[in-house]
Amino acid sequence: MGTGESDVDCNETLYRLYTYLDGELTEERRHKIQRHLDECETCLDAFDFEADLRMVIAQGCKDHVPDALRQRVLEALIVEEQKQQFTKG
Ligand SMILES: [Zn+2]
Repeated sequence: MGTGESDVDCNETLYRLYTYLDGELTEERRHKIQRHLDECETCLDAFDFEADLRMVIAQGCKDHVPDALRQRVLEALIVEEQKQQFTKG
C-alpha cells in the first residue's frame, strides 16, 4: 500500500473536488481523481451532489430546476445543519 504510485485518497479527492469541477486540474490529476471516483462510492456521492448543486445554482436565474433535484439539495443542506449542531453539542 502507498508505494509512491500516489493514487489520491478520499481527503484529497474531496479537497480537489471544486478544482476538478472547474476543470482547473492537470490531466494527470484528473485521471487519478476520476479513478478514485470510479472506486469510491462515498466520494462519488459527494461529487454527484456537488455537480448537481452547481447545476441548480447555474439554473437559478432560469425557472427550471427539477423538483427532485431541488428536494435533494434541500435535504442535504438540512443534514449538514444537523451534523454541525451535533458536533457542537
Ligand atoms: Zn473516496
